[in-house]
Amino acid sequence: MKEVVVGIDIGGTNTKFGIAALDGKLLFKSSCPTNSDKPISNLFKKILIDIKKYQNEFKITGIGIGAPNANYFTGYIEAPPNLGWGTVDVKKEMGKLISCPVALTNDANAGALGELIFGNGKGINDFIFITLGTGLGSGLIVDGKLVYGHDGFAGEIGHVIVKENGRQCGCGRKGCLETYVSAPGLKRTAYEILSDLNIESSLNKIPYEKVTAKDIYKAAVAGDKIAILTFEKTGEILGKALANSVAYLSPKAIFLFGGLVEAGDLLFKPVIKHMNENMLNIMKNKTKVLPSGLKEGSAAVLGAAALIITELNKK
Ligand SMILES: [Zn+2]
Repeated sequence: MKEVVVGIDIGGTNTKFGIAALDGKLLFKSSCPTNSDKPISNLFKKILIDIKKYQNEFKITGIGIGAPNANYFTGYIEAPPNLGWGTVDVKKEMGKLISCPVALTNDANAGALGELIFGNGKGINDFIFITLGTGLGSGLIVDGKLVYGHDGFAGEIGHVIVKENGRQCGCGRKGCLETYVSAPGLKRTAYEILSDLNIESSLNKIPYEKVTAKDIYKAAVAGDKIAILTFEKTGEILGKALANSVAYLSPKAIFLFGGLVEAGDLLFKPVIKHMNENMLNIMKNKTKVLPSGLKEGSAAVLGAAALIITELNKK
């Protein structure tokens, strides 16, 4: 029987899951509401009903799980604000329902492993993976391995403080990178520039609560000055932050993933310019900033699959 793994990505609203071959081909993919007001066992039971339909075709060799605040070492999800379970022993709960190896880590770390095994990071031993969405997540690959740190939470570049007494962050502190570089961060910057310059802009016509990163992108493509400046400012802040990250790790590449990456040169040009301008001389122009090789729709599940494949290969 063909050996496969299961990848599960637990999100605040929806959970994506699927079956992947060891070469990264997705054989089955689905999703369901997370419903974290009910016990986590309910969610796992629902997923396993779908997965077990394939038991006669495939041999499930392990389950990888990506989730917010997930700790690789303990197997716990540690009370993420967007899930109602509090702190829960995920490995144990899954272990009650199916007997196979289970591994978990946070979604950005899983994404980095997905990039390493199935994406543009293949054959690159040192890189940084950055995911830009409602927040900024990151995973660090050093010497071909994911960096977990001493307690499993390494690689939180989104919560590096880039401005003293800056914008309020969801983590409770102020001035974190993700309050500037993320979809909501882009929007906050657009309105800041809008009020600073007080010039005509198509963004003026959209109420604050309705405007999306996509609207800002479309406005920039149409030549809107505020929108173009918004991308430049966002790229500048990210570029400077990455120059610091490079000083720590000297990565060969930095892969950007997520909706904002579709902005292409609007984002990449200022990022690369400001990263190199602020880089230590001996490191200048040696680190590439590239789009991720993972597809938006399948990356989360493939990342979780890559996590368990990595664990199985260790044995
Ligand atoms: Zn923060």
